[in-house]
Amino acid sequence: MSLFAPVMYFSFGFIVAFLFPRLPIIMITRGKGFNTSFPEHPFPIPLSPKLTQRVLHMRMIYWMGFVVATIPLLFGLVSIKWGNSAFGFGLWLSSGWFILSRLQTFVGGPKPPWTLTMAQRLQTVMDETKSDSSCCTYPQPEWQILTVSCSTCGKVLDKIPRPDLGRKRMDGFFVGSFRLLLTDGYPTVSDHGDELENLQDSEE
Ligand SMILES: [Zn+2]
Repeated sequence: MSLFAPVMYFSFGFIVAFLFPRLPIIMITRGKGFNTSFPEHPFPIPLSPKLTQRVLHMRMIYWMGFVVATIPLLFGLVSIKWGNSAFGFGLWLSSGWFILSRLQTFVGGPKPPWTLTMAQRLQTVMDETKSDSSCCTYPQPEWQILTVSCSTCGKVLDKIPRPDLGRKRMDGFFVGSFRLLLTDGYPTVSDHGDELENLQDSEE
């Protein structure tokens, strides 16, 4: 008996379950109407309540992927028992791996690309620029690739590398989506590894 067909079924199941839980992040918010209040990717985004809200939305969609992953996991188990077992095993292994890697967050693994703490830090920067201790007379804080900085005086206000923020990516839908699959939404350039550590979500 040939091994070719089972290997194909397995790979197909694996790929389907790989893509499935990641689709929400790729699809939701990429439309034009969702991003009218933000400059186009990859330009810096001025800090605003809308931006803070976007970080929280991305965080919600990220955890939604966790729930979505249980669908191929269950379907995989059903398929192993009553359907094509190679296909089912591919589904099951891939979504199980996804769920396990996300669960690592709770035992000191990598933090999600979007956290509550991140949103709170953006809010703190905004509050500070409106207070007496602001960096200059007309502060305009914006989120650049590696930092939140004032575009008027250039002062670095917080060192938070910018994750993907759901904007339509400049490299187009397919290349952009592929890049998202590879990075999972994390900042593509980051030399603030220690800073990322501080973004741990204490309530999760
Ligand atoms: Zn300034």
